[in-house]
Amino acid sequence: MTSDGRPLRAPVQPFVLSDKVAIITGAASGIGATALETLSEAGAHVRGCDISALSGKAHPNLTGNVEVRDPLAVGAFVQSVIDEFGRIDIVVNCAGVGITADEPTPVHLMSDRDWELTLGVNLTGTFNVCRACIPAMLDGGGSIINISSVMGHVGNAGASAYTASKAGVLGLTRSMALEYARQGLRANAICPGFIDTPMVRRHLDQSADGVEELRLIEASHPVGRLGTSQDIANAILWLAADASSFMTGAALTVDGGYTAA
Ligand code: NAP
Repeated sequence: MTSDGRPLRAPVQPFVLSDKVAIITGAASGIGATALETLSEAGAHVRGCDISALSGKAHPNLTGNVEVRDPLAVGAFVQSVIDEFGRIDIVVNCAGVGITADEPTPVHLMSDRDWELTLGVNLTGTFNVCRACIPAMLDGGGSIINISSVMGHVGNAGASAYTASKAGVLGLTRSMALEYARQGLRANAICPGFIDTPMVRRHLDQSADGVEELRLIEASHPVGRLGTSQDIANAILWLAADASSFMTGAALTVDGGYTAA
């Protein structure tokens, strides 16, 4: 208490996003899909996009056939949101590809295709979306949230394209944080551990022994389990909300202790 009876600390604010306008890429699946639901429940107007054509599973607030490697497709989607709402407050970059080859590939065997696809979607795609959205965020500020990975911090033998793309996302995020701090535009990254999404399920399906691979992945997380999409959507919600207004340029690790060892 202060001497005049006021609480010493500001009360905790609920994570309310009333009337904020949010864009989420990769929103048809996994972390992006859960983030779309979570930010909507917090009161935001959320518009998602994904490369999928979305036939049969279309969410009313989801636009298909948006390839983040294509600046024109990204620009058209972003403009459609600006035309609808007049502004953008929150950008969440979830679109991504995992380890693309069936087997772990050391650098000297890495194909041009795998390198370019992984860097193109995970890093250049994130750049394309940020570049398209930022002009609409310079007056009002806002929050950019880029999904990196624990692999942005640590190496992974056989996955150099993925680790390089995710480390690149951290560098991009830190530089944007510095470039736009005075405009109230924050940029942060999240570094998830292994999360139980279709991306990881595909990896398990392609493994010679998926059950053993799952056991090894679980064991690499001190908490003894994979994360859930909701674990990451909760962190996205926190970074989107004003409750995190003093955070920018951060890499928020949400990994069940994976990188604590
Ligand atoms: P996911 O379920 O596969 O979702 C990723 C979404 O991105 C999919 O809908 C995918 O569409 C879409 N996408 C792929 N390439 C695209 C492109 N070129 N343009 C637009 N959209 C594209 O995977 P997730 O696990 O939720 O991953 C979300 C993000 O978290 C990714 O950046 C991933 O690297 C990161 N991450 C995931 C984990 C994990 O363990 N799951 C851990 C750390 C970081 P298609 O399905 O049609 O390809």
